[in-house]
Amino acid sequence: MLVGGGVVGLLSAFLLASSGLRVSLFEGRALGKEASWAGGGIVSPLYPWRYPGAVTALSSWSQGYYPGLAAVLNEITGVDPEVHATGLYWFDLDDSAAALAWSVSVGKDLAPITLAEVRNQIAALGNGYKRALHMPGVANVRNPRLVEALRRALLEHPHVEVNEFCPVSAFVLEHGKVCGLETAGGEVRADKVVVAAGAWSGELLATLGLRLPVEPVKGQMILYKCEPGFLPAIVLAKGRYAIPRKDGHILVGSTLEHVGFDKTPTEEALASLKASAEELLPALADAEVVGHWAGLRPGSPDGIPFIGEVPQFPGLWLNCGHYRNGLVLAPASCELLKNLMLGEAPIVDPAPYAPAGRLGLV
Ligand SMILES: Cc1cc2nc3c(=O)[nH]c(=O)nc-3n(C[C@H](O)[C@H](O)[C@H](O)COP(=O)(O)OP(=O)(O)OC[C@H]3O[C@@H](n4cnc5c(N)ncnc54)[C@H](O)[C@@H]3O)c2cc1C
Repeated sequence: MLVGGGVVGLLSAFLLASSGLRVSLFEGRALGKEASWAGGGIVSPLYPWRYPGAVTALSSWSQGYYPGLAAVLNEITGVDPEVHATGLYWFDLDDSAAALAWSVSVGKDLAPITLAEVRNQIAALGNGYKRALHMPGVANVRNPRLVEALRRALLEHPHVEVNEFCPVSAFVLEHGKVCGLETAGGEVRADKVVVAAGAWSGELLATLGLRLPVEPVKGQMILYKCEPGFLPAIVLAKGRYAIPRKDGHILVGSTLEHVGFDKTPTEEALASLKASAEELLPALADAEVVGHWAGLRPGSPDGIPFIGEVPQFPGLWLNCGHYRNGLVLAPASCELLKNLMLGEAPIVDPAPYAPAGRLGLV
């Protein structure tokens, strides 16, 4: 039984059901319309060298898995999640030396490149940048389509029961063990319960007296529509990025705001994101902003997700706290959860993600 129908809950359900388990998923709102819809879909952390090895281990595994996952989902559902491998350019980093040292230590193809070479690739790039680093092959996934494909795959799956608009308010306990959920539709029982409720996961754990350090971090994003090919790669400078979709849509993000569960888009962020967009790609000054939204990232210490069983409450499992990287981390995170729940050999060392020792008391 799973709580949460974002990419993490949906993909966990898909992998568990595909291994033969019967799965019930409870989503309080519409499936896949929160952070997993709102995100940019870069299949890499923005600055991968600034994260601990535990994040690199999951992101590296997922990067190799995404094209195959997208092909399988497209075949089952007819919805293509559009994994678009374009490469990523960073401009004027303060910590290029750390980036290069990281790339050597983990065997990633990341190298300096001259601005003249970048301009050959991206004619629309703004002036004023002095240095660039390039990582070829970095992809972005069209995340609204990814979650839609997962939604359809689950609705058709014979082992899955999907309960949309059915919020979970508490856990059912028996002799100190979690054995079900209190939902808007009544009490439901199961051997195992997985919390994949994104930024809201901490609220649910608090009902058990546990403090899970997962907090909402608001991110705003804007969308342009250009000719396909206008931007052939992801570009990133001063913490802001532009992501090209295959059809010419360009996403520009994002803000990082600690304002609780409010996800109202603001005029201030719109102006700031437009200024960043026009600095990166001056021609966007003449383009129309066709979308502006916000989502709530599930912020966690060091961005390391919680994956595994909660020792204080047998039967309670977590897959949450993916912060800025839930789209790239989801495949590995959900596969690892499945490994642990089914007693399989884990794809990566599970120790850094284990809830044991990382939860406090309310
Ligand atoms: C602006 C922005 C840009 C981003 N860019 C990227 C990027 O480029 N690459 C990347 O990898 N990541 C990115 N992210 C991060 C990524 O989107 C998240 O880490 C990821 O979507 C988290 O997935 P999730 O399934 O845990 O959470 P969510 O998608 O938020 O899903 C959680 C679900 O749980 C449901 N829920 C909560 N409480 C309950 C309850 N009590 N009962 C029932 N259901 C409940 C919610 O309604 C929600 O649908 C970005 C995020 C934002 C906001």
